[in-house]
Amino acid sequence: MSAFEWRDAPAGPAYAVIGDPVGHSLSPAMQNAAFEALGMTDRYVAVRVPEAEFGPALTRLAATGFRGLNVTVPLKRAALLWADRPDALSMRIGVANTLNLIERSATNTDSPGFAVALAELSPRAGSTAVLLGAGGAARAVAVALADAGFALRIYNRTASRAERLLRELGLQGEVLDAPSARDAGVVVNATSAGVRGEALWVEWEGCEPDAVAMDLAYGPAAEPFVGQARRLGLRACDGKAMLVAQGALAFEWWTGIPAPREVMLRAIP
Ligand code: NDP
Repeated sequence: MSAFEWRDAPAGPAYAVIGDPVGHSLSPAMQNAAFEALGMTDRYVAVRVPEAEFGPALTRLAATGFRGLNVTVPLKRAALLWADRPDALSMRIGVANTLNLIERSATNTDSPGFAVALAELSPRAGSTAVLLGAGGAARAVAVALADAGFALRIYNRTASRAERLLRELGLQGEVLDAPSARDAGVVVNATSAGVRGEALWVEWEGCEPDAVAMDLAYGPAAEPFVGQARRLGLRACDGKAMLVAQGALAFEWWTGIPAPREVMLRAIP
């Protein structure tokens, strides 16, 4: 599905996902299926917003009648800074992925969405979690893992970003110098290596036999990581469950109506 340029975004749909690029997003299919299933007339489109044009673009979208936005790469930090009323969770994580354009409020549904998806894999409570990556999504994941009581280890290609992540979020954790899953009960790939078609070779040796693994990417981009984990006999999934969970939480935050999660899951390939 393609995206509108923000200057060309039509009046009518009340919701959108903004990012750059954003044409690949599965959110329109998922959210439109929810609106249709509930007999609501609202619709959801993808809108490309270059980072340098964030402020004028949001002013234009609000004037056009958009009420709520999902925000993806590279705009999540700008979204938090734009909001007059960011909630405590988005402020703590330092990025927002969901906005209310009328109230100028912001939240982060990536973090609780990840927690819901991880719980579906039934990880062993209190085990060590290895987080790969230190970008915007990794910040949300790190908070969820720490709050769920996992001992955090983090590897990032650029180690200084991993150290900064822990420092800025005020989290206890160890920075690894290699993508090692040793002793891990949970392994999360929050890098965009797969999306870029680049290899990320996790050292699986020594991980717990009942470990679980999740790639935040989905589809073919997640196959190398999920495939490695499954070949070792681990329970593993891609990022679709998180995508649906964060989308359902955003839907509920905007509308106050319970989201039809099964419908949303079936709407994505
Ligand atoms: P960012 O651009 O903020 O961060 C990218 C991260 O990937 C950085 O840590 C970067 O390391 C690392 N990285 C990139 N290329 C490589 C490579 N070749 N080898 C090792 N590390 C690499 O992206 P986000 O945090 O926003 O997103 C990360 C992933 O999560 C994406 O695949 C995105 O689609 C997915 N995602 C899924 C969601 C869902 O609901 N399922 C929600 C949000 C994100 P460095 O710092 O060294 O550059």
